[in-house]
Amino acid sequence: MTSSISALCVGRVFGLQKPSLTYLRGWGQGLDIPQIMYVIQGAGGPIVVDTGGDVERSWDKHRIRMEQTPEERPDAALRTLGIAPEEVELVVNTHLHWDHCSNNHLFPNARVVIQQSEIDYADNPVTWHRRQFEHLPGLVPAWRNAEDRVTAVDGDTELAPGVSLVALPGHTPGSQGVLVEAESTRYLIAGDCVDLCENWAGDEEVDHIPSGLFTDIVAYENTIRRIEKLDCEVIPSHDPLVSERRDFR
Ligand SMILES: [Zn+2]
Repeated sequence: MTSSISALCVGRVFGLQKPSLTYLRGWGQGLDIPQIMYVIQGAGGPIVVDTGGDVERSWDKHRIRMEQTPEERPDAALRTLGIAPEEVELVVNTHLHWDHCSNNHLFPNARVVIQQSEIDYADNPVTWHRRQFEHLPGLVPAWRNAEDRVTAVDGDTELAPGVSLVALPGHTPGSQGVLVEAESTRYLIAGDCVDLCENWAGDEEVDHIPSGLFTDIVAYENTIRRIEKLDCEVIPSHDPLVSERRDFR
């Protein structure tokens, strides 16, 4: 049985600096990006991958300009597919940066699957990564609102026939992607290992461009080489072309 993926916009971020997503490239260029929630249907019932950020915290806690319409709330966005939040049995967080995991609690019956190494790092990030993990004084990271439903995994893990987690360390220690066998091809939901289409496409100098934020650039390159061998179509995490296309079948 094959699966399909819907890429739903669950918020929009404005005024980033481009090198924050394209390592040391694009100086002086601003960037507006979507936050994207993926819904896998087919094998294993609806699986939600990443749940976006909390718009209420975006400026106050993260100094990020974010907007979200009522229709873009993750639970409302899911309903446009005819799926109720209660029906979701599995949520995957590609990693624990706030803009990927802040709405897990909107899926009350779902197990939340995260790499153990990501949980460990989110508990003790380097000083300069604390904000992205909401590791701040007096603040409970939003993903912990569903902490009692977290299932920690270690490395590659099959979720359903044709739907598998693949470890993609580099952007963060426990970053993971989701490999999905669809009718036309095999897709990889890559998380922030690949932010934009141009990260994967590269430029005249390099074949791929990492994100501007990472914990281990050596592991990151090994991850990129691993993805090359997966023989798949890569779906970036923050490219407007992805949410505009919406359907990956
Ligand atoms: Zn990230």
